[in-house]
Amino acid sequence: MPREGWASTSPVQRLRSTLDRIDRKGYGAYKDLFGPHDFGSFTLFVDRVQRDPFAPPSLIRVRTKVNRFDPTLFENPVRRVAFEDSLTRSVEREIRRVVRGNRGSGGSGRVEIQRASQVVLPRTSMVIKPEFVEARMAVGLPARGRSVDARAAKTMLLEELPEVVRRGLVPAPEGGIDGERARLHVETVEDTAHIRGLLPDLGLVAFVADGAVLPRESGASDRPLGAGAVPFRSPEEYRVEVNLPNRGVVSGMGVPEGVTLVAGGGFHGKSTLLSALSWGVYDHVPGDGRELVVAREDAVKVRAEDGRSVSKVDISAMIGALPGGRTTEDFSTTNASGSTSQAANIAEAIEVGTSLLLVDEDTSATNFMIRDERMRELVRREPISPFIDLVRPLHRSLDVSTVVVVGGVGDYLDVADRVILLEDYAPSDATPRSREIIRKFPPRAPLMDRDVRPPRKRAIDASSIDLRRGKRKTTRGRGLHTIELGRERVDLSYLEQLAEAGQTEAVARVIGEWVAAGEVRAVEELVRAALASVSEKGLDSLGGFQGHPGEVSLPRAQEVAAAINRVRPLRADPLM
Ligand code: ADP
Ligand code: MG
Repeated sequence: MPREGWASTSPVQRLRSTLDRIDRKGYGAYKDLFGPHDFGSFTLFVDRVQRDPFAPPSLIRVRTKVNRFDPTLFENPVRRVAFEDSLTRSVEREIRRVVRGNRGSGGSGRVEIQRASQVVLPRTSMVIKPEFVEARMAVGLPARGRSVDARAAKTMLLEELPEVVRRGLVPAPEGGIDGERARLHVETVEDTAHIRGLLPDLGLVAFVADGAVLPRESGASDRPLGAGAVPFRSPEEYRVEVNLPNRGVVSGMGVPEGVTLVAGGGFHGKSTLLSALSWGVYDHVPGDGRELVVAREDAVKVRAEDGRSVSKVDISAMIGALPGGRTTEDFSTTNASGSTSQAANIAEAIEVGTSLLLVDEDTSATNFMIRDERMRELVRREPISPFIDLVRPLHRSLDVSTVVVVGGVGDYLDVADRVILLEDYAPSDATPRSREIIRKFPPRAPLMDRDVRPPRKRAIDASSIDLRRGKRKTTRGRGLHTIELGRERVDLSYLEQLAEAGQTEAVARVIGEWVAAGEVRAVEELVRAALASVSEKGLDSLGGFQGHPGEVSLPRAQEVAAAINRVRPLRADPLM
């Protein structure tokens, strides 16, 4: 029940009388709500008013007049992002509790805030400043048919909204935010970020804490598996201890640099471990189970992705001359095969920068991973140097480590620095045993061992992208997996480390700005410059609009580059 008197009544008089005046008028009359409204303890800004009840919702911001939270909750950038994440989730929770929703036609009565996944990201949904806290939301202004329903609007804006603000944005006892819960959120994230920062100095590419819960509820849910989940327990041989700023000493498995093989029978948890590592580039919310599972921030999970387009990518380290003498130093196709797509994914990951590749047999092209003795004998004109021949040179020449999941190909034992065996979800160190096996069954052919050079960098040309769609120009994210550039759709379904739709939207806007500037630039430079500008000016700067910037979350350089690389008409040229 809304608490009487918390939103003081007099300053909202203007809003109330405006609503009374426009009641039952055409829906367009809602535009009179545009602008700020003083609610006493907070200000409501109506930044964009939808044109009809079925259009995308109206955009509002609510900004408290004071920030009474303990300043240590947002005293540095990591803490601030974590605290903002925590408040976004509180507001979402309170909307679900307080807002009735559906109050008429179209989106009438809905109140929404950006949906957060299991990971903690900088988002435009929340801004915490020493002087105030501001939440950005979307509301469906209520209509009966196509006319203003002022009564419903008053309930929504004058009763429900202040209650959401009080319960979701104001500390207890006055409001509903429990300081201890907020502190746990912030400290958890700070600890995770701290371990990730330690990895390079420890010579590690990943860390999995003892007690971590890796499996997820289902293939469709990223929440932790409840009953039956076997907590992670590091093999003695890989156990390291780290000292965290909040939690103190924590032990777990350190995965060293180099080539790590994850082996084990089918269904014993190999892919689950690899997937947890791939999400370890992000921080997780308390209770996720993977809070203390971290990987290098630039880790890239690479997979086969047949059908994707490739623009002048240097895959020559992996694939030699193709039929018809086509060179692979600037390989292009509108329809890549399993192996050429996986090669392109690796080359592009190295081009934008990565220190760790994560490869799962389940999502790899077999002929990319391995070629056995007999097939070498039969097929002499094979352009592919399988990945097994590449993992060691990648580490030695380019300092790129690999964690590779292989259940069925023992040849990988020859190239692994260590072997982690999973049995009934329990990892053990199988390196000594694998050495014995290698002695017993020596490699039948000498393994290829050569140096590799980094793939040639490319310049990409903004003028190859046409943003026109009818009379307008569009660049926007469509859910998690699609970007719309004019009439072109970019398919991001196989970017396994894209966490939320807000990131997709951010990538779309980065591309939009680049195209508007009309530049020809190296992919990696373009991406770094865009993210540097965001980190300097804030995510809001990706909107180019005063007020509510829309729902945007921070993407990684790796995903921004990957999205650009999947634009079908992209024109690229090797540099030098
Ligand atoms: P693999 O790749 O070895 O075939 P998966 O990683 O796909 O195996 O895991 C098989 C199943 O076991 C999945 O349903 C997964 O959720 C579950 N699983 C994985 N790790 C654990 C664990 N630690 N505790 C309980 N179930 C797990
Ligand atoms: Mg698997």
